[in-house]
Amino acid sequence: MAANGKLIVFSAPSGSGKTTIVKHLLQNTNLPLEFSISAASREPRGEEVNGKDYYFLSIEEFKKKIANNEFIEQEEVYANNFYGTLKSEVERIWALGKAVIFDIDVVGGLNIEKQFPKETLSIFVQPPNKEELEKRLRGRGTETEEKIQMRLAKADQELGYAADFDAIITNDNLEIAKQEAYQLVSKFLKL
Ligand code: 5GP
Repeated sequence: MAANGKLIVFSAPSGSGKTTIVKHLLQNTNLPLEFSISAASREPRGEEVNGKDYYFLSIEEFKKKIANNEFIEQEEVYANNFYGTLKSEVERIWALGKAVIFDIDVVGGLNIEKQFPKETLSIFVQPPNKEELEKRLRGRGTETEEKIQMRLAKADQELGYAADFDAIITNDNLEIAKQEAYQLVSKFLKL
């Protein structure tokens, strides 16, 4: 099957809409994709469910898995907040004959592409501008001012990596962004 053995990475500063686009591809299309559930050492936010949105681990559990070499990539995205992709997760999805779709940060996304250059399509989702990004982050209403500032500082840094990706989608109009994402993925999977 065309999807087996393939990896599709969506990366972007948080607040740019990448999660919405990834969910759209998974829920509203018939693309043969399965979401890569990352491991994370932070607390669940809002409606998030363990084993669905993330595998929520304690910092100790996370560090143990690093020591056991269980990650394809892992990163301390924010101070004391570790995130990573487990090898077992990619193997699970490939065994289903599906392509793995990732919603991860820019450094993690580029790291996956570096390790699997032929198998990976990397897509950067860009907010129309920084004001809009800030508005979206505040609109979520789930985080403290300190956390919002932390995410904005990281976003600034991440926007500089856009050119390293195979494709860029500017999320100005969500419906158009969803269509662009669909086209890119179906072409890559030769569907
Ligand atoms: P959030 O706390 O908003 O869910 O995620 C924070 C950041 O960590 C986001 O940019 C998200 O994409 C990133 N992230 C999520 N999973 C992974 C992962 O497996 N590896 C890496 N490197 N980053 C991840």
